[in-house]
Amino acid sequence: MYLKKIELQGFKSFADKTTIDFEKGITGVVGPNGSGKSNISDAIKWVLGEQSAKSLRGSKMEDVIFSGTSKRKALGFSEVTLTLDNKNKEIPVDYSEVSITRRVYRSGESEYYINKTSSRLKDVKELFMDTGVGTDGYSIIGQGKIEEILSSKTEDRRNLIEEAVGIVKYKSRKKESEKK
Ligand code: ATP
Ligand code: MG
Repeated sequence: MYLKKIELQGFKSFADKTTIDFEKGITGVVGPNGSGKSNISDAIKWVLGEQSAKSLRGSKMEDVIFSGTSKRKALGFSEVTLTLDNKNKEIPVDYSEVSITRRVYRSGESEYYINKTSSRLKDVKELFMDTGVGTDGYSIIGQGKIEEILSSKTEDRRNLIEEAVGIVKYKSRKKESEKK
């Protein structure tokens, strides 16, 4: 599995629809300060269901929507789609390509789509459980994250290890069934 493409529209500094294609392997993103490099990793976290505005370097969720410039009006919604290659079926669905979309309007509520089908945040989370992707995974290592892992509480470190060995999904289902 690898990230093939990101399409952003109205997300932070990406007012116009922007498509970024990735190849397999390593991609470096370079550019001057403030040009939007970190906004790209914020976009990835956001699509995967990040709920904390602070983790996205904002103060409220609306901050992910293009807020306008001196020459351009603010936009009313933000939409980002990630396309992942899934030829090796690491994501447990029968598609060789999986796309995840999140859209949010200024009014608040987020919409999620998996392969263009309207879905819940819960479905997106479940799709990536045990793959290491996801907001609780380790596919995005931000500044200070290594330090955080090393100095975290044992339970928190255990969660990361459980994600890596692939048992998070079973634990989550067990918890769900205990609720019923
Ligand atoms: P550095 O090299 O300093 O880390 P960077 O390339 O990572 O820079 P980002 O932090 O991704 O830069 O981008 C910051 C830019 O995004 C700022 O110019 C900021 O004004 C702009 N920006 C952030 N949120 C919005 C928004 N909602 N609407 C418009 N522009 C935004
Ligand atoms: Mg940056």
